[in-house]
Amino acid sequence: MKTFNEQKFIQLVLDSNPQGIFWKDKDSNFLGCNMVIAKLAGLKRPEDIVGKNDYDMPWSKEESDFFRMVDRRVMESGIPELNIEEFITNSDGETDWIRTNKVPLKDEEGNIVGILGTYEVITVQKQLELQLKKQNEILQKANDRLEQLNVDLERFSYATSHDLQEPLRTIGAFIGVIKNKYLLNLDEKGNQYIRFIEDGVSRMSNIIRNTLKYSKLGKEELDFELVNINAIIDNRLIDLNMLIEENNIDLVNEINNIQIKGNPDLLGTLFYNLILNAIKYNDNKCPEITIGYLNQTDHYLFYVKDNGKGIPEKFQDKIFEPYVRLDNNRKGLKGTGLGLSICRRIMNLHNGKIWLKSILGVGSTFFIEIPK
Ligand code: ADP
Repeated sequence: MKTFNEQKFIQLVLDSNPQGIFWKDKDSNFLGCNMVIAKLAGLKRPEDIVGKNDYDMPWSKEESDFFRMVDRRVMESGIPELNIEEFITNSDGETDWIRTNKVPLKDEEGNIVGILGTYEVITVQKQLELQLKKQNEILQKANDRLEQLNVDLERFSYATSHDLQEPLRTIGAFIGVIKNKYLLNLDEKGNQYIRFIEDGVSRMSNIIRNTLKYSKLGKEELDFELVNINAIIDNRLIDLNMLIEENNIDLVNEINNIQIKGNPDLLGTLFYNLILNAIKYNDNKCPEITIGYLNQTDHYLFYVKDNGKGIPEKFQDKIFEPYVRLDNNRKGLKGTGLGLSICRRIMNLHNGKIWLKSILGVGSTFFIEIPK
């Protein structure tokens, strides 16, 4: 192997380093550098830099002023400055973004005699960072606009639903008057038309009520308290009792004495909607519904399981969106397409989750995860 003298060897090591390395005396005159800097400065050899200062270099006056200022600061304080992001202009007139470290150079007695610097070019990295920042800003703006549009839309749907109630009440009231006063003058067809109108009015008022409920959810302050889930379900089952009996539903409620923190009215609505759906969308000859739960480490997992018609996989996420309905059910119990969206909002307000598993023709299970 070829032997080098020590000085040459050290220069070779420095030149092999991909970072630029330089050192200066106390007056910021260059004492040496590696090949990376020599190339940047348009010098043939690293030793050509000795005795020159920043103002003799291709970098701009502003860049040189800044380099000098930091040199002085490091030499006066004796404290290294690391990861300084700055610009440097090379001998071809191109400006790069660099990340520099500067440490004080000390003699054997610990006196500061100069400065040692290293740097690496970070232009590509910086450009990517800037691009990312710009894209994030665009995204944030789009997000803000979307949020505002959502707020406007909800305000609009609340206002229109609210205003629709009044004319609907008038229609309902005058249908009542027509029935009372003129029913005897109407033939069978006329009677049928009146029933159609009544049916329409009742459906529309249902949609309006649910739309108002949906757009109000989350806007009002909610009272949270310790709630007995069993009591809540029993209470709502009373309202559903007639439907359950009429449809010969075999309903099993396995929940007992579970207490969680939540809003009793909303949790009642949640279970009511899920049980009502399990009744409505069940055309099994022997319809069954099971309400159960699993006690897990930090949450309860409740479920409402039916052996009804099931939901095709591609619609399993969609049905939680407002007004999405797959079909009318055999029992003629018309829905509004808002039940599950209300459930999802209620779960958001309880920091919980709702999802389902379903097999077409076999049945559906809706899961509700609520933190303890
Ligand atoms: P609605 O029942 O008023 O139509 P929902 O938001 O409660 O509205 O449900 C949306 C749709 O999801 C329903 O129209 C129905 O097609 C489907 N669905 C909901 N629950 C079930 C279920 N247990 N079994 C089968 N389909 C269901």
